[in-house]
Amino acid sequence: MLEVLTPQTQKIIDDFLKHYKPISHRAYISAISNLFYVLGKDDASKLDIEDFKKVQEYFRNKERYGSQDKYCESFFKYIYAYNIIKNPKGFEKIWIKSNLINHFERLLNSVPEKVEYKPSLTIEQIYEIEELMNLEHEDNLEMLKMAFCWYMLFHTDCGVNELKSTDATKYNNNILKTNNGEYYVPEKFAPLLNHLKESKYPGFNVNGIITKLGKLVEIEGLIPQIIKNSRNENILKCSQCGNMYTNTIDNWQAVNKRIICINCADKLKKNSNLKVEPIISQNIEGMSIKDDINISSIIYTFDELRKKLSPEFDYLKLHKFQMEIGKLGEAYVYDLERKNLAGTKYQDMVDNTPAKNPSNGYDILSYDRNGNELYIEVKTEASNENDFYITANELCTARQLQSEGKKYLIYRVHNILAKDKNDITVDVIDNIINNKEYKLMPHIYLLQNRNGQSCKKNSPVLQL
Ligand SMILES: [Zn+2]
Repeated sequence: MLEVLTPQTQKIIDDFLKHYKPISHRAYISAISNLFYVLGKDDASKLDIEDFKKVQEYFRNKERYGSQDKYCESFFKYIYAYNIIKNPKGFEKIWIKSNLINHFERLLNSVPEKVEYKPSLTIEQIYEIEELMNLEHEDNLEMLKMAFCWYMLFHTDCGVNELKSTDATKYNNNILKTNNGEYYVPEKFAPLLNHLKESKYPGFNVNGIITKLGKLVEIEGLIPQIIKNSRNENILKCSQCGNMYTNTIDNWQAVNKRIICINCADKLKKNSNLKVEPIISQNIEGMSIKDDINISSIIYTFDELRKKLSPEFDYLKLHKFQMEIGKLGEAYVYDLERKNLAGTKYQDMVDNTPAKNPSNGYDILSYDRNGNELYIEVKTEASNENDFYITANELCTARQLQSEGKKYLIYRVHNILAKDKNDITVDVIDNIINNKEYKLMPHIYLLQNRNGQSCKKNSPVLQL
């Protein structure tokens, strides 16, 4: 409708609309279109006080136009204030120009910029809390309380005040009653609730408990409502049954490539035309360490790396998994060496950058406390094996360095994924070429052209 107006007028309307939130633009455009239509004009500069009066009267007599008279009034104020109207006579009696300009300037400043969406809790934060809360806390009442409040707020519809106003005396056989309903409570919380039931204060100090949780996981300002908001952000509605479930993969399945809740999927499985598939987690990035991690960077300390890796991610392809536990072992030895050299000037000289390039034939350059160089090759395993593999290149490097009188050491890191860090062990093997405990066994041979070099870098010729 606005196309029938002069280009200048269209531009004026665009500028005028900038003073209002996008959500109200349609209403303004509709009112302004009507205004020009009713007056039979196409140019804002040609409007005058008589037009204004006519339009006001027209809209006031037409109830169904709602607030259109107000919208048009604003438009007239605008074109008067900014001297768009060529014949402004009469307006000065009803409006003061400087006031109008102030008004429009205020509007312009109050139109909020697009607010960037920020989740109440990030995926990482939720994951960290869940991981902690899922651990066994049988004998730790404080941890159980945190886990219980987290469960009620994040995994059920129980409101913050609803939880505050109930107490453990309303708990029986895995059901907690509130003034609003009943909630299933997993068995692991039974000892806590039964204990509280007998205690002097059977209620839940939700604020205090969640504050403690926040301190534990280092989320500043964590309050119950943030958890509740986060639940709302992380909840999905099953299109089949209409029930709401949190967005963890195990709550959902793909049926004919559409996602529905696991209960509905189970029912639909009986229908042979439907293909029910688990939602495969291996396509989801972020659970594994990217290959390009620079392990020399301080950002990834051993502990951080370790937190990211856990044997339950069995979807990691074996090769990738092995590469990653390899990195983990290198980070462990790097930390270990730095610890051993604490207080010497060599501590900061430990260098783990050679690991990035396999052609180096060793992973870490370290020192003994007298400053003698140690060339360390790290062999990492999740279990406790007897045998291990060494590449021809590593062997070649060992021979080379030993012939130069330097130390080439193999650090075998065992149980790298052990639950308790103290169960990780390291064997140091000196002089792999001529060792009492280990003997080299040929594993794979490559037939190399006789013109090739015998000790080419990067050639995984012989594994032992
Ligand atoms: Zn469903």
